[in-house]
Amino acid sequence: MPDLLTSAPSYVRELAPYVPGKPVEDLAREMHLHPAIIVKLASNENPRGPGPKVLAAIAAAANEINRYPDGNGFALKAALAQMLAIDDAQIVLGNGSNDILELATQAFLRPGDEAVYAQHAFAVYPLATHARGATGIEVPAHEFGHDLAAMRAAITPKTRIVFVANPNNPTGTWLAPDALETFIRSVPDDVLIVLDEAYNEYLDPAQRADSVGWIGRYPNLLVSRSFSKAYGLAALRVGYGAMAAEVAAILNRVRQPFNVNAIAQAAAVAALADTAYVDESRSINRVGMQQLRVGLDALHVATLRSHGNFVLARVGDAGAVYQSLLRQGIIVRPVANYGLPEWLRITVGLPAENERFLVALKSALHP
Ligand code: PMP
Repeated sequence: MPDLLTSAPSYVRELAPYVPGKPVEDLAREMHLHPAIIVKLASNENPRGPGPKVLAAIAAAANEINRYPDGNGFALKAALAQMLAIDDAQIVLGNGSNDILELATQAFLRPGDEAVYAQHAFAVYPLATHARGATGIEVPAHEFGHDLAAMRAAITPKTRIVFVANPNNPTGTWLAPDALETFIRSVPDDVLIVLDEAYNEYLDPAQRADSVGWIGRYPNLLVSRSFSKAYGLAALRVGYGAMAAEVAAILNRVRQPFNVNAIAQAAAVAALADTAYVDESRSINRVGMQQLRVGLDALHVATLRSHGNFVLARVGDAGAVYQSLLRQGIIVRPVANYGLPEWLRITVGLPAENERFLVALKSALHP
């Protein structure tokens, strides 16, 4: 099929597909391990299962799966609009917040345009940019984090989107609200700012920016958030973007009519109401982060201060350490594709999982 294949645009043929964390089932098959003994700390998932209210909402929604979902997501948007104190017309729901990132590029980028993002920033920014035939401008990081002044300087008349992750994955770096707002104010108003806050709920409330509140002042700001992390719904694929109603109307033009399924919508409504679950997840994460950092320090492994539910650790030959951990039933995330070949990213798990990882890492480093 050579003609057929070359008829796909070169910028599509040249894409390097996203590499997800290794699924538990894959490792179980490959290493002949029982899935129950495998610890997955590879995809920044919430290590806790869903709460009873979410499970009840899923069970109730399951009775209706012969019907299409509400393509407008009325109930979920209403709950979000109330929580965020914005109009429901300012919300776009996504099949994960990844979908929001894709929709933004679909709506605003054409071949020849530029999108600006930081070195070591989330891998979907270059991927979604290149998928539209646009050019990605990767701005060197400053101490592993976004260099906002350099990012501002990288904006040209061709720039249509600038991506900012706060906190960023995989580095866990965080931008203080004042610096962030100064940057947002400086961006030309015909450039869409995609502020990716997938890990927002893991921040201490005092550290969180009033980012959604800024939308009224900066109509070129889009804030994306996820139900996959602190809300614990990664498998259901649901996230949202908050933005000016006019921007939402543009994204909705390229959105699939039923991009968020009915079970996900019902679960997300229940998850939003269960604020205790998110608060507990944040404190479990804080304790687990400390456990990992103390354990990694004891092994003389350098870490970056992280504001998410994961930590980057400098292990040296990360490929070899990753393989050794796999043989011991522990899945973490190599980040060589982020330009960090000596580092592994470890998601904060439950205390027993963190301990299994630390013991396995010790034997990987000192066999
Ligand atoms: N943004 C960042 C920074 C992420 O780390 C992730 C998940 N890896 C996402 C967005 C997308 O998550 P989801 O589609 O599950 O909401």
